[in-house]
Amino acid sequence: MRYLSSVSAVACLATFAAIGATTADAAQVHNPANTISTDVEHPDGFRRFAPELPAMRERAARINTDFGLHVSEIEPGLFFVTDLIYQSAFLVTDAGVVVFDAPPSFGERLRAAIEMSAPGVPVTHLVLSHKHADHNGGGYTFADIDGLTVIGAEASAESLADNPLHGVLAPTETFKDTLSFSVGGVPIELRTAGFHANDTDVIIYLPDRKFLMAVDTITPGEAPFMNFGATANLEGYMASFDTFLDYDFEHFLSGHVSVLGNRQDVETARDYAHDVRDTVYALWPGFLDRFMANMELTEFQHGNLAYRMTMEEIRDECASGIIERWEDTLSVVDLWADSHCETVVLHAIMH
Ligand SMILES: [Zn+2]
Repeated sequence: MRYLSSVSAVACLATFAAIGATTADAAQVHNPANTISTDVEHPDGFRRFAPELPAMRERAARINTDFGLHVSEIEPGLFFVTDLIYQSAFLVTDAGVVVFDAPPSFGERLRAAIEMSAPGVPVTHLVLSHKHADHNGGGYTFADIDGLTVIGAEASAESLADNPLHGVLAPTETFKDTLSFSVGGVPIELRTAGFHANDTDVIIYLPDRKFLMAVDTITPGEAPFMNFGATANLEGYMASFDTFLDYDFEHFLSGHVSVLGNRQDVETARDYAHDVRDTVYALWPGFLDRFMANMELTEFQHGNLAYRMTMEEIRDECASGIIERWEDTLSVVDLWADSHCETVVLHAIMH
């Protein structure tokens, strides 16, 4: 049986009222995101989760090729590509095509998109935003290109040498902190950062195109994926937004969902993440008192039980407030807010 905190149960009332459930039901339900049931009568039934916001749906890209991708020229020579789940981009210049990430879900279709947009122009560069196979495991589809320059961070090249990832091409050119180069007269600036991967991430910037790319960061229009995009570096993640906003950009490619982000999306994502952090830290001073109360409530059965109850209490109070404040601004907040709060709770325990 899960522990139910009265504060969160009360905060959930509005949601349940909206779908006609009773107050008694609400008292039974506390943290629906933990267990989702396909039984609509179940207190954790999937229908209790809000649908995507209409504003998000309106912005969604549509498939516009006969090979199942969306391809659009967002700036001269700069193309945005998505299969509506993963995102990538490529730059067409007189000197060749530069590809930014090759998700395996695209397969050969990314090459088809390039060929369609720039017939006969050779692919000369592949730039890796980070080493993860879900964003660059499609690199193998470019492996046959003679003289292809694969650019990645030094730390990624080292970890790939130790642990090759299926389909991910090993960098042929690496850099430690920054790398500036141009292809066909278009400047490209790369810079390492730590906000997601366990080794390093790369921020990709095309100043002439006002294009910034930092993958597995925000999800435009949506709350972030579980545990803040499963970040391996929460402090780096929290600090990353201001790093991004220091750049002069209009387009922000973050690697996921069908929506191409912009400056406002980065600001919204920052405010959301900081609200989660601040909410947990505002509750944190009461941790010990809550723990002792929970020890007593559970008849001093054991400390682990009371500790977990206390973590859940803070996580769920945080999630209730976050859902209330953000559900009209971002989609799927009710699905992931508890995981975001829990990520900060775990961080707070250790820091
Ligand atoms: Zn990743």
